[in-house]
Amino acid sequence: MKYISTRDVNRVVSGAQAIVEGIAPDGGLYVPASFPALFQEDWNKLREMEYTERAAYVLSLYLDEFSYDELLGFAKEAYGRFYGDDPCPLVKVDEGQFFLELWHGPTCAFKDMALTMLPHLLTASKKKLGEQGKTLILTATSGDTGKAAMEGFRDVDGTGIIVFYPSDGVSDMQRRQMVTQEGKNVCVCAIHGNFDDAQSAVKRIFTSKEAAEKLAEGGWKLSSANSINWGRLAPQIAYYISAYCDLLNAGEIEEGDKADFVVPTGNFGDILAAYYAMRMGMPAGKLICASNSNRVLTDFFQTGKYDTHRKFVETISPSMDIIISSNLERLLFEYSGRDGKLTAARMDELKKDGVYTVSEKELSAMRELFDCGCCDEEETKRTISYYFDEYGYLIDPHTAVAAGVYNDHKEEEGKVCVIVSTANPYKFPADVLEAADGRREDDPYKAAKDLSELTATEIPEPLKGLDQRAVRFTAVIDKSEIDEFVLKEALSRA
Ligand SMILES: *Cc1c(COP(=O)(O)O)cnc(C)c1O
Repeated sequence: MKYISTRDVNRVVSGAQAIVEGIAPDGGLYVPASFPALFQEDWNKLREMEYTERAAYVLSLYLDEFSYDELLGFAKEAYGRFYGDDPCPLVKVDEGQFFLELWHGPTCAFKDMALTMLPHLLTASKKKLGEQGKTLILTATSGDTGKAAMEGFRDVDGTGIIVFYPSDGVSDMQRRQMVTQEGKNVCVCAIHGNFDDAQSAVKRIFTSKEAAEKLAEGGWKLSSANSINWGRLAPQIAYYISAYCDLLNAGEIEEGDKADFVVPTGNFGDILAAYYAMRMGMPAGKLICASNSNRVLTDFFQTGKYDTHRKFVETISPSMDIIISSNLERLLFEYSGRDGKLTAARMDELKKDGVYTVSEKELSAMRELFDCGCCDEEETKRTISYYFDEYGYLIDPHTAVAAGVYNDHKEEEGKVCVIVSTANPYKFPADVLEAADGRREDDPYKAAKDLSELTATEIPEPLKGLDQRAVRFTAVIDKSEIDEFVLKEALSRA
């Protein structure tokens, strides 16, 4: 399987190269040259497998430089770090209504599904390419990627990782998880600015020749742990296919039946993986893109116009507080008929004018598969409270955005819908407690304890004792200082 850039279809690389580079030198994102198809016999095999095998099976179709056994080894190590026996259980709360819990990993958010795999994929890709140098992972985070990426890459030989997060844009628990991160090769820094500022700065360094040359002097080559990296997206495709197998095995659907998926969306990575699963042959009805008050994607799917001229809103689902959704570029590329020039032109417009528009034809094609909706803060809290009161099921604010949108869309009886659940509720204890019980407790550790007592649920192991751990990182910089910070950090470790 070859990979091409969304901005230049003549730029062709192998899977290993796509993973090592992270982003194409033209600023485009790597996409598979074609989508591998799942046939009846594949589904038969997949249905019999456990999750690690399913993940290896799906990945092997995309990464043919890797053997199935090699990938299975990675998957066993990655998902062996998860809590409980199933890394991504599908929980039925009502007839036709399922939550796909993707947060049983070491940092309690769905980012672990991919970021426990990525270090294995990256290290092995470097070996396959005969690359000796060190890889510097630069990551912008809206809260969850940073922690999951550092946890994944900590003390991995030949790698270093620097994470930037918006100083006021993450929950206390998320911040605490990051600044107490252990490992010799990790570094995290807050920036004055929002996630888009951090993401733009990181992307800028990726395409800067000057930065590349200076880093090369210290033996470093850049790569990304954000979902712009194919190695982040590929492992995410597997859990959609796995969820579909689980629905089949549970007798909830018959072969060929369609299931809807509602996905709480920020950077458009998770829902894009659902789209890729569909392209491989998973029968999907609607893929519903759920946004919080930063509803740029809702407006886009309604009007065809992507318009970043709007106020950035800080919400209780901070990992979705994003206005520039990077991975939408990959979808635009597909619906433009894989037109690299057009995609590049649109991304230029976005950079220059902050806006672009797709054609009527593209929009109506997208709308055949994609639906959209958004949930404001009040509705998000109401949804948390509804699921707790009605089903005794506790969800986090990101998942609640998706569940709220699901309830707005639920018209037809007898449909099967999977709501993608992206974080453990204890990552956001103060807001979840307030939503479930009406009381406000700003101290996140106290809130977590109260929440545990109120709901008779357990604080997950990785979040216990966070308040006892030493803070290792305190830097806060301006977004204009990111380049300098990266060079200084990297070169001091050369
Ligand atoms: C990152 C994140 C999302 C959004 O996922 P995207 O792939 O960026 O669309 C949703 N929920 C949580 C908890 C997240 O960490």
